[in-house]
Amino acid sequence: MSDEAVTVLGIDIGGTKMAAAIVSADGRLVREDRIPTPAGDADQVFAALGELIDRIRDDATPAAVGIGSAGPLDQQYGLVSPVNIAGWRNFPLVDRVRDLVGGVPVRLGVDGHCFALGEFWTGAGRTVDNLLGIVVSTGVGAGLVLDGKPLLGQSGNAAHLGHMVVDLDGEACACGSFGCVETYASGPRMVARAKRRGWRSDEAVDAAVLSADAAAGDEIALAVFDDGAQALAAGIVATAVTVDLTTVVIGGGVAKAGPVLFDPVQRWVKRFAQLPFVAELTVVPAQLPNAGLIGAARLGRDALEPAGLATAGQSDRSPRPGAGSGNDPRLGQPTTVDASG
Ligand SMILES: [Zn+2]
Repeated sequence: MSDEAVTVLGIDIGGTKMAAAIVSADGRLVREDRIPTPAGDADQVFAALGELIDRIRDDATPAAVGIGSAGPLDQQYGLVSPVNIAGWRNFPLVDRVRDLVGGVPVRLGVDGHCFALGEFWTGAGRTVDNLLGIVVSTGVGAGLVLDGKPLLGQSGNAAHLGHMVVDLDGEACACGSFGCVETYASGPRMVARAKRRGWRSDEAVDAAVLSADAAAGDEIALAVFDDGAQALAAGIVATAVTVDLTTVVIGGGVAKAGPVLFDPVQRWVKRFAQLPFVAELTVVPAQLPNAGLIGAARLGRDALEPAGLATAGQSDRSPRPGAGSGNDPRLGQPTTVDASG
């Protein structure tokens, strides 16, 4: 079978929607569909997902399946317990999907990792080998791609940037710690902070309203975005000096705020990133509307890699559209600068 004929199935599991797509081995989206995540018990939720999968694969058997899911999850046993899907607690999603699709390799990953992998494969990070991807939404998720491979970590939960402590006197966090990036930068926490300062305190409003008000010049909204941006930048720079990278991609609902978020993030990153090897740290918006889904497909596709390829050099790397074609203007600036001319 030629590489072009190989397709993989990507699945993205979230608390509000479930998406599935057929993706070619070189990262092109063939078709995609999504449904609202249903309420119900474990089997009812899976029945809805199963219908979606059957519809999208249309009787064909993909070569592999990759699943990105909201956490927590148990990668060793393929179990998921998404916080916002009450019916699934230690649900054996990998086994159930494998049974449904027909015995092909099935890989499972954290949704933040899949986001980073998707942007690395065909999105804003397709010309670089090292990338931090961050999803700023109702929480703050993240994933790292290092030397072209996702960093999973011992338990599969690496790169939990949202729970990096950036304020030693900070507020309590849902994770049990305090002063986490997420307590400043998640949409709901930014809205709560703004309300405590008197912004639309009697209204039922969300982060989209907050970002619109910030864009219109509201001082409280701007200050809250600046605080969130500072926390994000602290997490970004801490990660960059730890693993040595230059490209950060931010997506998610709150990132749709655009310059209201990106301008202060870039300003704070520039302030914090003083060591020479992170001085060129670049923060750019996500390019894919469905990076988590594309990244999930990439997880599945990587299950097909022949053993040994993972340690091979750049020339053996999986093809990425646009990769190797020079500097991508959408990356803002070259990520490597050869001053020798
Ligand atoms: Zn936390």
